[in-house]
Amino acid sequence: MAAAQRIVIENCSIATVDAKDTEYATGHLVVAGNRIESLGAGRAPEGLENVVRRIDATGHLVTPGLVNTHHHFYQWITRGLATDHNLFNWLVALYPTWARIDEPMVRAAAQGSLAMLARGGVTTALDHHYVFPKGSGDLSGAIIGAAREMGVRFTLARGSMDRSEKDGGLPPDFAVETLEGALAATEATVREHHDASFDAMTQVAVAPCSPFSVSTELMREGAELGRRLGVRLHTHGSETVEEEQFCKELFGMGPTDYFESTGWLGEEVWMAHCVHMNDSDIAAFARTKTGVAHCPSSNARLAAGIARVPDMLAAGVPVGLGVDGTASNESGELHTELRNALLINRLGAHREAALNARQALRLGTYGGAQVLGRAAEIGSLEPGKLADLVLWRLDTLAHASIADPVTALVFGAAAPVTASFVNGRQIVEAGRLLHVDEDAIARSTREEARRLAGIAAQG
Ligand SMILES: [Zn+2]
Repeated sequence: MAAAQRIVIENCSIATVDAKDTEYATGHLVVAGNRIESLGAGRAPEGLENVVRRIDATGHLVTPGLVNTHHHFYQWITRGLATDHNLFNWLVALYPTWARIDEPMVRAAAQGSLAMLARGGVTTALDHHYVFPKGSGDLSGAIIGAAREMGVRFTLARGSMDRSEKDGGLPPDFAVETLEGALAATEATVREHHDASFDAMTQVAVAPCSPFSVSTELMREGAELGRRLGVRLHTHGSETVEEEQFCKELFGMGPTDYFESTGWLGEEVWMAHCVHMNDSDIAAFARTKTGVAHCPSSNARLAAGIARVPDMLAAGVPVGLGVDGTASNESGELHTELRNALLINRLGAHREAALNARQALRLGTYGGAQVLGRAAEIGSLEPGKLADLVLWRLDTLAHASIADPVTALVFGAAAPVTASFVNGRQIVEAGRLLHVDEDAIARSTREEARRLAGIAAQG
């Protein structure tokens, strides 16, 4: 077998986000094939063979690639609507439009969402897709294809809804699948696309949408299906006060107890939001190692509240960051969520240093890898792990006067991405995507957004 080709990155600061938070003020990193081979202080060792590229990264901070743990790509073509609504009113306003999506719309929206994530340093993306109108084509295939084209590592959380208005749920009747249909399609998606290998670029999770859009049977059987197939489980939980009331009225208990009763707490589960959690809810998550996708901007946009992330971390709950769908977080960026997570959690805890810059970076990298079940492979820069990493430029006007690079990255303006690598392959160069045409994506997303708005207006 031919020896792996090496890329040497030198003269940069490095934040490894390993268990000891090891950092190098001036260091080097060697990539061999799709793995990190070595890293450390000073220059790379002399005499390395097969070096195909040497990058002088003076003025840069190198970190693990960012990991996004919650998103709804299709919402890229319904951004900027229902801008002053809370969650339930926003959902009711948008469901009728969302139920008209088709395969070309979903493909364009996935490209738009992925492009915005990747340009901002995301190397592992996730799409929780739960709207599958009848006859709308191969939506899962279109989404996975878009991620593959861009070169981003990807998890499709195959969502579903089967509790519509006639069953006391929130979505309209025509927007949902049947229980049997949703389970069969989810299993088929796992069997077709899930790759369990160490360097997998595509994984699939089982992901019924939320307690107010999914039957108790689908929650329970979805959890069983995911565990039987050996894949992860994802859903929305404890997002708003209204959801808590809904659960109490319909199930006679709060969301966390409902999740526990349906098999939805466990180390293979991660849940978006978890805003309305009391001490015993947090203790239940910690005890069962259930993960959380913290989505600070979306929670602010929909006036949902502030998740208790500092308390969750203190209790040992795995926490990652999520953009959430871009109909509730129009920016679609994850790197700005590092800063938002830090600021919002200080507001929420009303305590100095409730979250610090290094904890925020950890949420966006290692924490995300943990909740996706991939902490052995990605999320930190360590020899043997996959080469998913970002070079952030910190020597320009925006950051040059801040001495500490991690402080500059988290507290400062959104830092330019000079280069981003996934699986040892470069996907971003000087802030532009290398394998897709951003301008063509901008045009097609605009066209598909207009087409969807036109169809929705006809009712
Ligand atoms: Zn969501």
